[in-house]
Amino acid sequence: MKCLLVALNIALLMVGCGASDIPKESKEASFNASVMAKCEACGNGISKQAEKCPGCRHPNPIPIAAAKTRADEARKLAQMEEKKLDEADTKRLSEIEAKVLADLEAQALTEMEANRRKKAANDASKQKSKPATTLLDLEVIGGEKPTTVIIARHPNPSFNGTYRAQDKLVNEKVYYKKGNDRHLYFYDQAEGGMKGWSLDHRKPDGKKDHYSGGWYHFKSFSHLDSNCDEWLDVDYSLLPLTATDGGCCERTLPSLSFSTSVPTASVAIVF
Ligand SMILES: [Zn+2]
Repeated sequence: MKCLLVALNIALLMVGCGASDIPKESKEASFNASVMAKCEACGNGISKQAEKCPGCRHPNPIPIAAAKTRADEARKLAQMEEKKLDEADTKRLSEIEAKVLADLEAQALTEMEANRRKKAANDASKQKSKPATTLLDLEVIGGEKPTTVIIARHPNPSFNGTYRAQDKLVNEKVYYKKGNDRHLYFYDQAEGGMKGWSLDHRKPDGKKDHYSGGWYHFKSFSHLDSNCDEWLDVDYSLLPLTATDGGCCERTLPSLSFSTSVPTASVAIVF
C-alpha cells in the first residue's frame, strides 16, 4: 500500500510539470544554438535539420544550403574523377597509339628486310643461273680481217689449236676451220638466242645454233681479237659431243671429265 502511494505521487508530479512549464521555457531557456536555428518567418526555434518550420511551415534555409554544398562538392568530386579518368583514357589511348605505330614501324622494317633478303636471294640465283664464263687464250692474226685464230686453254683440248679462215662466209663473216671437225663461225640469231662466235664440232649451216665448244657473246664489234677471251658454255664440250647434222660423221667424242678409261689414242683420232 505504501509503495502504491509513492508511485502515484511520482506520477502526479510528472503530469503537473509537463503540461504547464515546458511551453514557457521552450523559446528562451531550451534554445540550444548548436543544434537549433530560428525560423526566419515566425522566429520560433527549429531544428537545424528540419526542412520546414513545424509551426509556420516556412522552409528552413540551413539544410537546403547544406544540401546544395554537398551537391556542389559531389559535382566537383565527380568532375575531378571524370578529369582523372579522361587523363587516364588519354594516356591509355596515346600509349595504344604509340604501340600501334611502333608495331607498324616494326612490321615495315620486317617487310623491308624480307624484301631485301628476297632481292639478295634473287640476285644470287641470277648470278648462279648466268652461264659460266671460261677464259680462253685467243691469238688473232690479221688485224681487222683475221686470217688465223689460235685458241688455247680450252678445257676440251680438241678445241685448242689453229683455226684458219676459209673462202666461204658464214652469216656474212669469215668462217674458220681447224682440221675437218672443229669450226669457228658467226651465229646471227637465226634460231633466236644471242649473236656471237661459236665453236662447234659440226660444219655450220648459218642457221643452227650449235656451240658444243662454247660461244662468245658479241656486244659492239664484229671481228674476233685477242680480247675476246670470256667464252660461255664451254663446259658443254666436256659432255659427249654427238654429230647430228652437217658434213661430219656420226660419232661420240670421249668426255674428258666423265670418261677416264678411254685411251689417250682415241682422243688423238680427233686431230
Ligand atoms: Zn515558423
